[in-house]
Amino acid sequence: MTVKMEAIKAAAIGCTACGLSETRKNVVFGSGDPTSKLVVVAEGPSAMDDRTTLPFSGPTGELLDDVLEANKLTRNEIWLTNVIKCRAAIRSGRVIKNRPPKASEIKACAKWLDGELTLISPAVILCMGSPAAKTLIHKGFRITQERGIWFTETSYAPFVMATFNPAFVLRMEGEDFTRGRQILIDDIAEAQRKSAEAPESSQLTLF
Ligand code: SF4
Repeated sequence: MTVKMEAIKAAAIGCTACGLSETRKNVVFGSGDPTSKLVVVAEGPSAMDDRTTLPFSGPTGELLDDVLEANKLTRNEIWLTNVIKCRAAIRSGRVIKNRPPKASEIKACAKWLDGELTLISPAVILCMGSPAAKTLIHKGFRITQERGIWFTETSYAPFVMATFNPAFVLRMEGEDFTRGRQILIDDIAEAQRKSAEAPESSQLTLF
C-alpha cells in the first residue's frame, strides 16, 4: 500500500462519524493494489470482514477469488473496497443479519471512499450490487435492468459498470447459481478488457 493510502487508512480506522462505529469490531478499509486501473466497490463489510478487517472475506471472498481466477486475476492486482467501512447489521430474533447501509451512513463514510478513489484515479470501477451502483452511478440504479452497461458521466472514473454482488450469487442455487457465477466472470472480463484499453494513468502514486 502506498504511504498516502496508508495515511487515509490510518485516519479511517479511528472514524466515529456514524453510529456503526459503536457496533463494529473493526473498520474494514480497502485492500489490494492502490495503483490498479480497476477498482471493485461493494456495499459494506460482512460479519467475517468485520472480524478479519479485510473486504470480501469468507465464502463471498472465495467466490470472488474464483471468478477473478477465471479471468486470470487475483485480488492483489486490483483494489477492493466498500461504500461503507463498518458492518451494518440488524438483529432478527437471535440472529444478527447484514442490512443495506442507510443514506446517512453512506454520506458519513463518503470521505473515505472519496479519498481512495481520488488517490487511485482508476480507469474502471466495477460496482458489485445496487448500493454501490446507487452511490457511484446514479441514485435510481436498478441492477436487473442496468447491470453490464457502461456509464461514462460519473465522478471517479471514465468508465463505471455494475454487476451482481457475489454475496447475492452465493444465495442462488443450481442452474441459477451457475448462471450468476458466469455473469460475474463475464462482467469482470469486460471490466478487465476496458481497463486494459485505458492509457497508463499520470496520477499513479508510487511512494
Ligand atoms: S461506517 Fe464509515 S463513517 Fe461510519 S464509523 Fe465506519 S468509517 Fe466512519
